[in-house]
Amino acid sequence: MSKVVIVGRPNVGKSALFNRLIGGRKAIVEDTPGITRDYIEGVVSWGGKEFVLIDTGGIVPDTEDEILRKIKDTVEKVIHGANLILFVVSGKEGVTPLDREIARLLYPYKEKVLVVVNKVDVSEEESLCGECYTLGFDRIFFVSAIHGRGVGELLDEVAGMIEGLVQKGSEEGIKLSFVGRPNTGKSSLINAILREERVLVSPKAGTTRDAVEIPFCWEGKNFTLIDTAGVRKPSRVKYGVEFFSVGRTLEAIERSDVVCLVIDGSEGVSRQDKRLAGLIYRRYKGCVIVINKMDLCALSRKEVERIVRRELFFLEFAPLVFTVAPAGEGVQELLGSVSSVYRDYTKHHRTSFVSKAVQKLMREKPPPPYRGKEVKVYYSFQEGTRPPTVVLITNSPEGWREEYRRNFLRRLREALGIKYSPLKLLIRGREKVTV
Ligand code: GDP
Repeated sequence: MSKVVIVGRPNVGKSALFNRLIGGRKAIVEDTPGITRDYIEGVVSWGGKEFVLIDTGGIVPDTEDEILRKIKDTVEKVIHGANLILFVVSGKEGVTPLDREIARLLYPYKEKVLVVVNKVDVSEEESLCGECYTLGFDRIFFVSAIHGRGVGELLDEVAGMIEGLVQKGSEEGIKLSFVGRPNTGKSSLINAILREERVLVSPKAGTTRDAVEIPFCWEGKNFTLIDTAGVRKPSRVKYGVEFFSVGRTLEAIERSDVVCLVIDGSEGVSRQDKRLAGLIYRRYKGCVIVINKMDLCALSRKEVERIVRRELFFLEFAPLVFTVAPAGEGVQELLGSVSSVYRDYTKHHRTSFVSKAVQKLMREKPPPPYRGKEVKVYYSFQEGTRPPTVVLITNSPEGWREEYRRNFLRRLREALGIKYSPLKLLIRGREKVTV
């Protein structure tokens, strides 16, 4: 995995930046073994990529000489092998002589240095930091590690610059499951897919006794079928003691990127179908609505679609496909839809794109004032994928009423070109994080 190292003199906010960069995302923070906490490592995920972030803060020596010696030591030990270096200075105190000494040590690695000017809380302060350009590096980013300002842009740049970053989950491909009431045709659909592709690889045991993961390939794309016991079985009694386990279904949903909700087209949408749809929706999973048994359905596709869309209105982003499982009808289309959903589910947009889209939507239709005050967005960015997750930092989280929020989410999905996937919107105040 690629390595990104944070360096800088004490008190510029290295550890605040470290915490901000790994924070919110799942990260393992490990102290390097030993008595002194010289370096701290964490894993950062951004836009489907991951890298190791190393904070060289640790114990702070007393004198400038010692600080410099320690940084020299760091350069020898870690900078050498790093893919990128975040050289942190403070926008509040400006460039100090010690900063210039450190800059000199980093010159040999100039190509992989990003200068991060921290403690710049509002954009007006950027102009006060002109001397940062005299440090001799081309790439300069202004951030506020405490507030999170500018951090999205920085991460975009880091992720874009590092070569050979590991694309997460590329081998397993699209994790997919089939859920639905008993007898809707889940096993038949799975069998149709696997039969058609003839690429059934021996199932490997899942994490629980009941579940298996079956990898297969379709049109050059990798898929992994999450198959909980009870869905796919060799034979079954037609009206036998079928039992429906929410636990298993939940597990399948949890482990999937895209869930195929299978509905029996000859019976319509039942309460249980709606419940399952709700489970998928609440977990922000990608979804394809599969109307099976269309050969037994008296209504036209159009009529069925109208009913399903009305009943499952909250899954408006889920494509709808019609199938006749035993004949393999609609199976190609189903896999095509799964791929489209996954493409949107893993989409990542640069911060500049997201914040422009958000500002435009705010201009076009601003939120109603809250307690007489205008509701503003200070900045916004995409925090992650699976599902695409956008964070808005606002002056008034309470001002985002449910109805406006829902409508805004729909418009934002459209503006970001996320047609087939749910989008998660996190609305946060500007509170400080404790570091
Ligand atoms: P599961 O419980 O959801 O896995 O359902 P199965 O795949 O076992 O299907 C239940 C029954 O419906 C079986 O007898 C299948 O042959 C039948 N079946 C499944 N899909 C279709 C379909 O599209 N059309 C018709 N006519 N029968 C189907």
